[in-house]
Amino acid sequence: MRFSALKIFKEGLTGNMGWAPHWRDPEPKPEYDILIIGGGGHGLATAFYLAKEHGLTNVAVLEKGYLGGGNIGRNTTIVRANYNLPGNSEFYSHSLKLWEGMEQELNFNTMMSQRGVLNLFHSDGQRDYAARRGNSMVNQGDDAQLLDRDGVRKLVPFLDFDNIRFPIYGGLYHARGGTARHDAVAWGYARGADQRGVDLLQNCEVTGIDIENGAVKGVQTTRGAIRARKVGIVVAGRSGQVAGLAGMRLPIESHVLQAFVTEGLKPCIDHVVTFGMGHFYISQSDKGGLVFGGDLDFYASYAARGNLPMAEHVMEAAMTLMPVIGKARVLRSWGGIMDMSPDGSPIIDKTGIDGLYLNCGWCYGGFKAVPGSGFSFAHLIAQDRPHEPAARFRLDRFRTGHGIMDEEGTGAQHNLH
Ligand SMILES: Cc1cc2nc3c(=O)[nH]c(=O)nc-3n(C[C@H](O)[C@H](O)[C@H](O)COP(=O)(O)OP(=O)(O)OC[C@H]3O[C@@H](n4cnc5c(N)ncnc54)[C@H](O)[C@@H]3O)c2cc1C
Repeated sequence: MRFSALKIFKEGLTGNMGWAPHWRDPEPKPEYDILIIGGGGHGLATAFYLAKEHGLTNVAVLEKGYLGGGNIGRNTTIVRANYNLPGNSEFYSHSLKLWEGMEQELNFNTMMSQRGVLNLFHSDGQRDYAARRGNSMVNQGDDAQLLDRDGVRKLVPFLDFDNIRFPIYGGLYHARGGTARHDAVAWGYARGADQRGVDLLQNCEVTGIDIENGAVKGVQTTRGAIRARKVGIVVAGRSGQVAGLAGMRLPIESHVLQAFVTEGLKPCIDHVVTFGMGHFYISQSDKGGLVFGGDLDFYASYAARGNLPMAEHVMEAAMTLMPVIGKARVLRSWGGIMDMSPDGSPIIDKTGIDGLYLNCGWCYGGFKAVPGSGFSFAHLIAQDRPHEPAARFRLDRFRTGHGIMDEEGTGAQHNLH
């Protein structure tokens, strides 16, 4: 089934009875060439690109819940390529290019909206860093524009520019950044993978990883044992637990990250805006809700819900930057489990076990990475060598100390990234 304007028109006239399910619901086979553990954005994109780019279709995605029920359906949907450091810069640049072609590639409306991302700065030091970061982005081939205070005011006049503690000095504007509908991204990749023959197995939790003589042989699941010579772990906040099934201890901590949405309002925020003096960022959804978030909850946890002190902290930052938000009523909040790495950058690498591959450490920024990560992880699994834009995401950098990518400059503490 292909989506087209004609199809939508026809279905509208005929009672919408002609739509088919987006993907099959197959029984697990006893053996596949490749198993992907985790049916989030990254796992589904990996399966899609394995099939599309490498012709590998004897593949299954094993998801313990339902497709898109993890962080992929919980994030605040920001997409951007405004990283500074070599390693991150080329990877996210590649990922953004994939975003720009995603709807055509998947024949699925992911509601990609390049509405621009504006990072504010509030001191001379921050302005210097924003200029350096903007230069890195331009050198990478991406767009960046350094705005002064008046330039920012033209875009977002409703902010408190003269806040006594945090006056706004200007902002770094990234016009190609924006938002996309998060669960549609999961559905689009799921549908594309299924159409190419990949089995998507839901309610299929991996409970064991079979290893013999240093090589992976398959997995144990709640739907029975499945054999495979290659297994990819891509389970975001559960990375430490699932790698533990293979006897590995990862440099990852899991932390809760919350987000909030207000009642629907008329269009009032045209861009994604981030506060430079507190971890607060905001955009407006196509339904009208103001979607915003902030810091991690600052303790390790596997609970996908947050707590009130962090809710208060985020609201305080919101009121500092844009007091007008005090008039909006918060409709709901939720949490997701973040896989925090010590330098805040991800891992896409082989493990010390033959045939076992690892994709994790996305911290709170893995939504924008979905296409790039799927593309690079599929390349690694299919060809047994890293994909160039992701070549620096090595697992051993935390052991050797070489190649650490500390984008935030906060040091090796998971909860500070
Ligand atoms: C509140 C919030 C806001 C965020 N905002 C942004 C943002 O604006 N921009 C951005 O770029 N990123 C953002 N992120 C981060 C982004 O959502 C994540 O980095 C990314 O979604 C993680 O990858 P994923 O989609 O594959 O994860 P998930 O969707 O979590 O996928 C992992 C899957 O693995 C499954 N799984 C776990 N254990 C097993 C097992 N044993 N067997 C089988 N399956 C298993 C889980 O059920 C889950 O479905 C945000 C996250 C949160 C929570």
